[in-house]
Amino acid sequence: MNGYCPVCKENSEQSLVEHNEELHVRGEKVQVVSEYLHCTKCKNDFKKDPSAPDAQEVANMVYRERKGMMQPSELIKLRKSFGLTQKEFSLLLGIGIATLNRYENGALQTEAHDQMIRLYSNPKNLRSILAEKSEYFSEERYTELSNKLYDLIQGDEGLLNECMEQFGSYDADIYSGNAGFNAEKLFQAIKFFCFQTPLQKAKLKGYLWLADFMHYRLHGESITGLRYIRTTFVPKAEYFNTWLTALTEWRNELQVEERITEEHCYEVYSTEAHDWSLFTPAELAILATVKDKFKDYTTTQIRDYLHEEKGWKQTKNGELISYEFASHLRI
Ligand SMILES: [Zn+2]
Repeated sequence: MNGYCPVCKENSEQSLVEHNEELHVRGEKVQVVSEYLHCTKCKNDFKKDPSAPDAQEVANMVYRERKGMMQPSELIKLRKSFGLTQKEFSLLLGIGIATLNRYENGALQTEAHDQMIRLYSNPKNLRSILAEKSEYFSEERYTELSNKLYDLIQGDEGLLNECMEQFGSYDADIYSGNAGFNAEKLFQAIKFFCFQTPLQKAKLKGYLWLADFMHYRLHGESITGLRYIRTTFVPKAEYFNTWLTALTEWRNELQVEERITEEHCYEVYSTEAHDWSLFTPAELAILATVKDKFKDYTTTQIRDYLHEEKGWKQTKNGELISYEFASHLRI
């Protein structure tokens, strides 16, 4: 192709080349492939898109992904969701404004700062720190922010109510483990499974199935009242994604993040501990057993484990799995 070369400042014939660079981020190796244009006239390579992030910024992004750290775009989105300026947010976080500004523009945050930002990504925590630092804000601004955070804490019940009506009102029978659907218990169980440690969605599906079936086997009732469908991958709660979205919107305690790694997946993460009081001791014991037994399993391992279950083997794809199979659980 023909184009302007910024090195020799002439029009020249150019070809696309890839640079495979090995960079270091905090002592770890990161491979970055960047696209350059090669000028056949002066034999120099130059960046194809001058506005694209440079190799070091890309390496930082890969490193953050690896460590589960917040990306600059997420940080900006978070701050804006609270209606805060950089100055206000940096004040609440106790990080200098120049530092926050650099983080939003691609600099790699320290681990301590990353954890702090995660802590205050929960509007409840942010609202308490706002109250502590109220003297830094005008009375009017303080009230405005405090109300905004209050609304975020309350969340949105609309979608959940709609889903309850449409998908959650079935009768208790052998397909729901003799229990009616309980959204609050599902919410708390999910939080229990993914509190502070992001959990892959596929694993979460398996955990819920195992916990409900185990409880049914021992006590004749499931915990959440969920119905489960046999899929080619793992048994999945009916309307799983819909419930997850509704519960995420309901209260700002659950987050679902897309993780782009070798096994591209979605992860669920809770910033808030679950409410113990909602569960019986037997339910808690079972939730803990499942979480503990499978914590080191990969998605593939949990799939392989579940494929050995009679309930999965003897149910046709797309059909509800009867809780009768609970008596054959191997756990
Ligand atoms: Zn040139």
